[in-house]
Amino acid sequence: MVSAPVENPAPTPDRRAISVLGSTGSIGRSTLDLVRQAPDSFEIAALTAFQNLDLLCEQAAEFRPKLAVIGDETLFEAAKSRLRGQGFTGEIAAGPSGLLEAGVGDAHTVVAAIVGAAGLAPTLAAVEAGKTVALANKECLVCAGDILIERATRSGATLLPTDSEHNAIFQVLYGRKQDVEKLILTASGGPFRNWPVADIAKATPAQAVAHPNWSMGAKISVDSATMMNKGLELIEAAYLFDMTESAVEIVVHPQSIIHSMVQYRDGSVLAQMGAPDMRIPIAYTLAWPDRMATTSPRLDFATLGALTFEAPDLHRFPALRLARNALKTGGTAPPVLNAANEVAVAAFLDGSIAFGAISRVVETCLDNHSGGGVSSLDDALAADADGRRRALAAVAAL
Ligand code: NAD
Ligand code: MG
Repeated sequence: MVSAPVENPAPTPDRRAISVLGSTGSIGRSTLDLVRQAPDSFEIAALTAFQNLDLLCEQAAEFRPKLAVIGDETLFEAAKSRLRGQGFTGEIAAGPSGLLEAGVGDAHTVVAAIVGAAGLAPTLAAVEAGKTVALANKECLVCAGDILIERATRSGATLLPTDSEHNAIFQVLYGRKQDVEKLILTASGGPFRNWPVADIAKATPAQAVAHPNWSMGAKISVDSATMMNKGLELIEAAYLFDMTESAVEIVVHPQSIIHSMVQYRDGSVLAQMGAPDMRIPIAYTLAWPDRMATTSPRLDFATLGALTFEAPDLHRFPALRLARNALKTGGTAPPVLNAANEVAVAAFLDGSIAFGAISRVVETCLDNHSGGGVSSLDDALAADADGRRRALAAVAAL
């Protein structure tokens, strides 16, 4: 479980060193934007990209990290020649070992913003090294939630949720565990909230990534359109806050102003609100336990209009049901769900399968998987590999 905000925080060092795993992505760029706004408070220890060498070079020139990592090893030579050519004097690394190094280096805070289970190993390394980990990468929690939480407890690492819903809950969760009745995750409903089921089934990648409220990477945007994102977040919340499946409710709130809520046993509900701008929850994790100023938009309640809520539609968005069932089943079901979804979303984005087939592929993989417990990282990785194999076969069979 993540710890609640402390009342008497230790003084923070003058400049906090931040490593950004996935610095070229949407969360990574928003993180660097905040660092750019507060150069007296933060410095960058490490930056990592997968293949976007142009942007990595640009970021390295601006933020002068001690370490720059290119995830795709085939780009190592090109990375060295480009970075040295522009006068970069820090260390340059590549591949999985480079990513691990970025997770365990000198940083005070590691921003885990790689997309997918690919981010698990460096995130786990940061947790084991006892870092403060700003966790955006929800897939690694779905894949190996128990292990991450157990290792954080053992190492003394602080897990700070970046995902807006979990960040909201973290901000309003306090007091005794037995006083918390349930967590209420809000969902925008995504771009197809009001679409007929037949139209959803044949939606294009361009339609699926056009989110009404949030600007995000392609994979999470498709997850928002299927609502698998909320399913993954349900599992993320259960692990992070040590809640049972039935104690996490999902409610559709199309305006994305309330980012989530905690209901207490006396009937009180605490909500966190803000403009739908990821820089707000990211700022909370960077400055924690303090707060930092941001230039993000402010809410103007006089002109905000109605905040509305509705139940999610499990018929049009079956991914929610699949994720709930996977959480109830436990063991290998969440990592298989996640891996199958990653494969299915990639197949949809490259035009191999229809939008409506994404959830069907995931369901097929869960129906057939053998189950079993996950008590080690190897177990989680084996379940991930199994889910990928099954999903590739299911995609090929369509
Ligand atoms: P993105 O696709 O924009 O960026 C992903 C980053 O990961 C990039 O820097 C990319 O280079 C790197 N990457 C991709 N594959 C990799 C691999 N195999 N090895 C190493 N690096 C790799 O994604 P994003 O939208 O920034 O999301 C990042 C994570 O944060 C996801 O897990 C997502 O669910 C979560 N998240 C994102 C948002 C958002 O608003 N974008 C909100 C909440 C949570
Ligand atoms: Mg979210």
